[in-house]
Amino acid sequence: MTTISELFGSMVFNDHVMQERLPKATYKLLAQTIKEDKPLDPDVANVVAHAMKEWAIEKGATHYTHWFQPLTGITSEKHDSFITPQPDGRALMSFSGKELIQGEPDASSFPSGGLRATFEARGYTAWDPTSYAFIKDNVLCIPTAFVSYGGEALDKKTPLLRSMDAISREAKRVLALFGKSPIQVSTTVGPEQEYFLIKEEDYADRLDLILTGRTLFGTAPCKGQELEEHYFGSIRPTVNRFMEELVSELWMLGVPAKTKHNEVAPSQHELAPIFQTTNAAIDANLLTMELMRKIASRHGLVCLQHEKPFEGINGNGKHNNWSISADGVNLLDPGSTPFENLQFLVFLTAVIKAVDEYQGLLRMSVASAGNDHRLGANEAPPAIISIFLGDELEAVVRAIINAETYTSNGAKTMDLGVPVLPTFIKDNTDRNRTSPFAFTGNKFEFRMAGAEVNLSDANMVLNTIIAKTLADFADVMDGSTDFERDAKAYMRQTLTEHQRIIFNGDNYSDEWPNEAMRRKLLNLKSTPEALPQYVAPESIELFERFGVLSRIEVESRYEVKLEHYSKKVNIEGLVTARMARARFIPAIVEYSTVIATSIATKKDVSPALDTSAEEKLLTSLAAGINTISAGVEALESSLSEAASTQGSLENARAYLTKVLPAMNAVRVAVDEMEVLVGHDYWPVPSYNHMLFYT
Ligand code: ADP
Ligand code: MG
Repeated sequence: MTTISELFGSMVFNDHVMQERLPKATYKLLAQTIKEDKPLDPDVANVVAHAMKEWAIEKGATHYTHWFQPLTGITSEKHDSFITPQPDGRALMSFSGKELIQGEPDASSFPSGGLRATFEARGYTAWDPTSYAFIKDNVLCIPTAFVSYGGEALDKKTPLLRSMDAISREAKRVLALFGKSPIQVSTTVGPEQEYFLIKEEDYADRLDLILTGRTLFGTAPCKGQELEEHYFGSIRPTVNRFMEELVSELWMLGVPAKTKHNEVAPSQHELAPIFQTTNAAIDANLLTMELMRKIASRHGLVCLQHEKPFEGINGNGKHNNWSISADGVNLLDPGSTPFENLQFLVFLTAVIKAVDEYQGLLRMSVASAGNDHRLGANEAPPAIISIFLGDELEAVVRAIINAETYTSNGAKTMDLGVPVLPTFIKDNTDRNRTSPFAFTGNKFEFRMAGAEVNLSDANMVLNTIIAKTLADFADVMDGSTDFERDAKAYMRQTLTEHQRIIFNGDNYSDEWPNEAMRRKLLNLKSTPEALPQYVAPESIELFERFGVLSRIEVESRYEVKLEHYSKKVNIEGLVTARMARARFIPAIVEYSTVIATSIATKKDVSPALDTSAEEKLLTSLAAGINTISAGVEALESSLSEAASTQGSLENARAYLTKVLPAMNAVRVAVDEMEVLVGHDYWPVPSYNHMLFYT
């Protein structure tokens, strides 16, 4: 039997394998690229490629692929075999440095938001040596960035890497003021991934789930999550087997899956890995999502990663735990006396300022048609961005603003009142589950992201805006003669200006949106409202200044996001109309006929028989058919109206304001019928059935 330590990372060309298999000099040069952000020496690539190929073939690989993340957000791969035919009819397995470093997939079939019209259709993939190559399904996967012929980023990874570079640069400037010169500053991310598991046979019966990832119809189950018995509940055996297989495959791929548990909603679960450097964490998260879907199907299950698969039931989020570290030391660790920890306070201030100044960009970074159903519903954070600091840090910030001294009560020990239980130190923040951006001890947790999203955008924005506010600080401190005095004065002023973003209360309360309005915080409720933040002049200026995205890259991404939104809602509208016409109306007609026949038969036997209940039911069914039918017609005309709206933003707005309400009207009418029509006649599995299974 293999031990866990043999299993973990066994399919990864990681540092350990590199040390073992690369000549010392090559290893040293590659390690400098990986650990010290030094540019890669091209001569190194040939040697690495050879070692990588030998290793991969030993592990059973026959093909390799440049694994990349086009603007669709999901990963793409095209497999090439290692085979090179020889004149004598045999074949050699070869893989050159050039093939490792650079690939040329056909870029023309990926969304580019107009970049292709301006530039050549060619696209190149380029090796990201900072995220390890791995073997999946006998294919050596090489994490790569994807750029156009002209060098414009066509993917999610390139700007993310640029943003990591930007924040690293600015953080080093700030750390230099504290007399420190770390070799590597990097941001870290631990993404918690939520998902639902339902039975494959139920999924197969629902066109809405198959084509849109969410149920477009369905009344609430008789039992929801009100008994709160599912959260952390014992995991059902089928799901347990799924999780065991998932975790072991993830471990083989070096993904440090750590916790698995049931979530709040019935049939909902979560997996959290141990955090890693941001780009590696995101690659790992994308792999996790892919494996979840694949492994579920081996257990007769389907893994739903949509942000809101079931109306009225908690949606799927993906909490982005974020921090920044210098040579492995977490810069957001407040230590036991945060008030005296000037360096921590400077970084904290930079985060607070960044989140307040660029609320709109952060909101934009997680905007999608799916996430619109989640943000603002009762479990997810609202669409308003605010920061939760917890009691102690909030008091520290107050003290700075008021120029007072803060005396910590010190770490509190918890006495549980039972001698046999251990006493332990209380965390200095409680868990506020309602905040979109919460400080949780030594990191920030950005909770607005939806489960389906590629977290690159959110982290690209976070890194860039914090790079900017770190730069602001470093600029002001340039030439300061009394660093401590000036740093404190800067923090006092900055925190005073940005304190409106701090909110420790209940983000789900009815008062919060009003209070937020009073504070002039943004409340961008939908994707078409949030996306224009991307192309706001101050956003473009920010991205250009830090070399993260050029104007044309920002504009093309904005276009892609708008188009994606419209296309998603368009598909949902079409599926709604199709299901209503082809499934629900016929089912209701059929059931009405049964009732009508029953009434007629009874009256035949004896006109004195009381059929009033059936007649009432029949009347409701007939009315339902008419309402649905009229609703579908209205939906269809809203779809054509939206489709003919000119301009991508206007287009998206039309889908938001015309198509979505029309879809909803059809849904409401159908859902009303679901509770009237006999179970055997209803054509699709109900929420009761899908969410509660053994
Ligand atoms: P909760 O469910 O309470 O939010 P979890 O323990 O499930 O917490 O998830 C916390 C996540 O935060 C984990 O993925 C963990 O690895 C990650 N994390 C911890 N420290 C850091 C850090 N310094 N940087 C980024 N992520 C971190
Ligand atoms: Mg969390």
